[in-house]
Amino acid sequence: MDLKEYIADIPDFPEPGVLFRDVTPLLADKDAYKEAIRLLVDFAKEKDVDVIAGPEARGFLFGCPVATELNCGFVPVRKPGKLPRKVVTKSYDLEYGSNEIQMHSDSIQPGQNVLIVDDLLATGGTVQATVSLIEQMGGNVVGIAFLIELEALKGRKLLTGYDVYSVLKY
Ligand code: IMP
Repeated sequence: MDLKEYIADIPDFPEPGVLFRDVTPLLADKDAYKEAIRLLVDFAKEKDVDVIAGPEARGFLFGCPVATELNCGFVPVRKPGKLPRKVVTKSYDLEYGSNEIQMHSDSIQPGQNVLIVDDLLATGGTVQATVSLIEQMGGNVVGIAFLIELEALKGRKLLTGYDVYSVLKY
């Protein structure tokens, strides 16, 4: 099954010059979604994973099914103002401006093995900030898995030393 057939390419979204890879057709197809999760699980099950962390919102859509398959928990990585208890915060630079992400400060226990799952690796800023929060809490990042990697943006360069897997490369 060619999962790329289920990714829609949307030119000039969300701004001119950007080619957006839309995963919603894959999510809507029961066989394509199941196959994508199976491939992510195949990578994940080789690791000793205690918990999965995923950035909102599409990281939830891929991270949560992998967590239930692995029989482990899931920890959300969120935009500011969404989590109700004490948080740790990390800012990171975008091409124009900056972004912030947060996790509950007790969401990762020291020594826990964490697998990060997200839909897409672009510049790597989001996942690098996620790694930083997990390590600040004492977690070990044992792997990082994406549905899609945009190789031209070289996000992998920010993740040297980590085991990075992507199901589909563009
Ligand atoms: P990065 O921080 O530049 O690596 O961007 C990755 C984040 O932006 C991920 O959480 C993605 O959900 C989102 N993202 C960036 N580009 C795309 C795209 O083309 N399609 C879907 N999501 C994208």
